[in-house]
Amino acid sequence: MRILITGAAGFLGSHLCDRFLAEGHTVIGLDNFITGNPENIAHLTGHERFSFVRHNISNYTYIAGELHGILHFASPASPIDYLEHPIATLKVGSLGTHNALGLAKAKGARFFLASTSEVYGDPLVHPQTESYWGNVNPIGPRGVYDEAKRFAEAMTMAYHRAHGVDTRIIRIFNTYGPRMRPNDGRVVSNFIVQALKGEPLTMYGDGRQTRSFCFVEDEVDGIYRLFMHGDSQPTNIGNPNEFTVRQLAEIVIELTGSASKIESRPLPEDDPKVRKPDITRARTMLGWEPKVELREGVRRTIEYFRTVL
Ligand code: UDP
Repeated sequence: MRILITGAAGFLGSHLCDRFLAEGHTVIGLDNFITGNPENIAHLTGHERFSFVRHNISNYTYIAGELHGILHFASPASPIDYLEHPIATLKVGSLGTHNALGLAKAKGARFFLASTSEVYGDPLVHPQTESYWGNVNPIGPRGVYDEAKRFAEAMTMAYHRAHGVDTRIIRIFNTYGPRMRPNDGRVVSNFIVQALKGEPLTMYGDGRQTRSFCFVEDEVDGIYRLFMHGDSQPTNIGNPNEFTVRQLAEIVIELTGSASKIESRPLPEDDPKVRKPDITRARTMLGWEPKVELREGVRRTIEYFRTVL
């Protein structure tokens, strides 16, 4: 297949380029480097089935030739990124999704939307099933991301229903691993970088809030299977093993052998108190199951950060 991946230089986008190329497909990567990093795709320079376009998908986009799939992964995705780029975040979720869907319709390509567990907001249903509609503050600091992704889901379903576009919606839960930016601001990268530098680990609030962390290799495998064998209904892809933020800090200190201490910092506004995917749908429809335990994944991520720091 000839595949377009938006956000190709990002953390997930770059791993997806690798996976689609490894499966024998031709990949066109698109990124404007607002949060993506050219280093993430530098190793693909000169690959005979890879090409790259520097472009903002929120503007009109033309790609010559046939396309069989479009994976729309472009977006600031870390809370500090979307606080810094609130309007670009709203635009890429809305205008960017519209442009990518229009291109999919014109080319007769399958469209795959990277949505998020953030559509559930600060959830009142736990674990989160796809049938839950969420508890989102539209005007809070996270609203720019949450509402853009909710709009993107609505737009994707509208193109599916009105134009018959073959679509997929994945709801991605916290994912970590090599190629996260050291200053990305997310909890796994922050804690590992702080531990390796011997700085205090910045635990927000009392650290009793929970997240369920999926190693990038598992997430990418879920994405690939959903793209190939899924249907148009939203699908959670994440690791259901739930940890408190304090537990994560303790694991990072143990595995890095760091002398760093844990220090409390104010809890950001609207920080979800719990998060854990119900993955029954992915299990039954795709036969997908995460395989990498948190300790193993954190170990591999520590190795990566040792090489980039
Ligand atoms: N967090 C933390 N210290 C940090 C960064 C994040 O305690 O240095 C917490 C944050 O408050 C949240 C959780 O870790 O409860 C996950 O945050 P992240 O930014 O990774 O992603 P989120 O799941 O909130 O989108």
